[in-house]
Amino acid sequence: MAVAAIYAGSFDPITQGHLDIITRALSLFEKVYVSVIENIEKEPLFSIQERIHMIKDSVQDDRVIVEGFQGLLVDYAREKNVFTIIRGLRAVSDFEYEFQMSLTNRALEPKIDTVFLMTDQKYSYLSSSIVRQLGKLGANIDAFVPSNVKQKLQEIYCG
Ligand code: ADP
Repeated sequence: MAVAAIYAGSFDPITQGHLDIITRALSLFEKVYVSVIENIEKEPLFSIQERIHMIKDSVQDDRVIVEGFQGLLVDYAREKNVFTIIRGLRAVSDFEYEFQMSLTNRALEPKIDTVFLMTDQKYSYLSSSIVRQLGKLGANIDAFVPSNVKQKLQEIYCG
């Protein structure tokens, strides 16, 4: 039986939607790796160190391990000997991409299974990119991100 799972993503930055998935994952698994992808296709707003730091600051549970990784998720999973991947689902629009990724990962490593967790309805429209846009425009993002993330966004956009 799987005791640990990997929740992988870019987390640029972490939002309440991600935190909701982490909380749900902790009720299913003893240990959750929150694994921050270093090599994302587009230039991230926050560096890998900043993204890791913000997650560590907002998740205070010693069953959560936050770290960065480079390269293929399946290689990282093999390295950890953890073959359960967690992904959050917001809407049907997420499904096609997640379905493709999940089957690709399994084709690369047959032991891999992806567990999809449905987010709380109130975060179903929330994404890191929306948060970045709102932060840039000076909107109130209190409901969407933890306070440390809000502060970091204000430092970038409001000086
Ligand atoms: P990626 O760039 O790989 O999509 P993200 O950091 O945006 O990574 O997201 C990581 C995971 O968290 C993905 O499975 C994504 O669907 C999920 N996720 C993102 N935002 C939310 C949210 N508001 N509620 C639930 N899951 C979410």
